[in-house]
Amino acid sequence: MPPVDRTDPQRAKSSDSRYSLMEFMRDFPDDAACLEWLWRNRYSEDGEHAHCPKCERERSFKRYTTKQRRQSWTCTACGHHVQPTAGTIFHNSSTSLHLWFFATHLMTSTKCGVSAKHLERELGVTYKTAWRMCNLIRNDLMAQDDDTTLSGEVEVDETYVGGKQRFQFGRPGRTSKKTPVLAMTERGGKVVAKVIPDASAKSLLPEIERHVEPGTQIYTDEWRGYASLHKLYPHRTVRHAHHEYVRGPVFTSTVEGFFGNVKNGIAGNYHGVSRRWLQGYLNEYAWRYNHRDDRQADFQTLLLRSARS
Ligand SMILES: [Zn+2]
Repeated sequence: MPPVDRTDPQRAKSSDSRYSLMEFMRDFPDDAACLEWLWRNRYSEDGEHAHCPKCERERSFKRYTTKQRRQSWTCTACGHHVQPTAGTIFHNSSTSLHLWFFATHLMTSTKCGVSAKHLERELGVTYKTAWRMCNLIRNDLMAQDDDTTLSGEVEVDETYVGGKQRFQFGRPGRTSKKTPVLAMTERGGKVVAKVIPDASAKSLLPEIERHVEPGTQIYTDEWRGYASLHKLYPHRTVRHAHHEYVRGPVFTSTVEGFFGNVKNGIAGNYHGVSRRWLQGYLNEYAWRYNHRDDRQADFQTLLLRSARS
């Protein structure tokens, strides 16, 4: 065995993590490092020069700490201040940038997500703050793109999620008061998952048309909400009522697998989710699913997205 440097721990080659806590601590040891990262990624590649909107040209910038300790960079020619957090979800937050970055790291460090309760413990913030952070990360950094279009072979299914279901036995029927959710998965590709008002054709079909390219082969079960789908797309159905789950290429197990992840995650981490917040959880699970094969670490993808907002 080669000698191990205990002061410089390394991630094992066999680890499936793409960004470990050690790497986070190395890259972002404190608040200043986080602010510097935003400054360089949003305004100044070399950390010294940036476009000054007031001078309308490239200028050199210096960092001063103002009285209010609000940190910004200042144009050395005209005195214009640039705040690296402006326009991001971190701006004007009473929570430190370092904790925001750490929360973002934690939310990408597990396959099934973390609860606000867990963030509260790890960050040492109040539950309310932790909950607000989770929500902003889900609905801003992990938001699903309205323009996502799926093609090839797409499985579509709807399910019911939420409520206090831990001690409830049996499966809720389609008329249950739980929140209806629609998901569309492109085989080998992305997922789109949305809260819908109900599972009628009127609610289902416009969403399918919004996200699935014309001419795409669609697979569903035999729910009547999909009965007229064949007028819009090539459409084949699995006859679950006949205990049929696969007929050649006709199956919906990809989308059902996605729903399984969502339901297990919600049951394990969140103990029930109300309709109002469910879209945020769907965003989180869809985001994780859609980035499952990325080479870039999820944490870095999210940070870069925060820098763009
Ligand atoms: Zn200037």
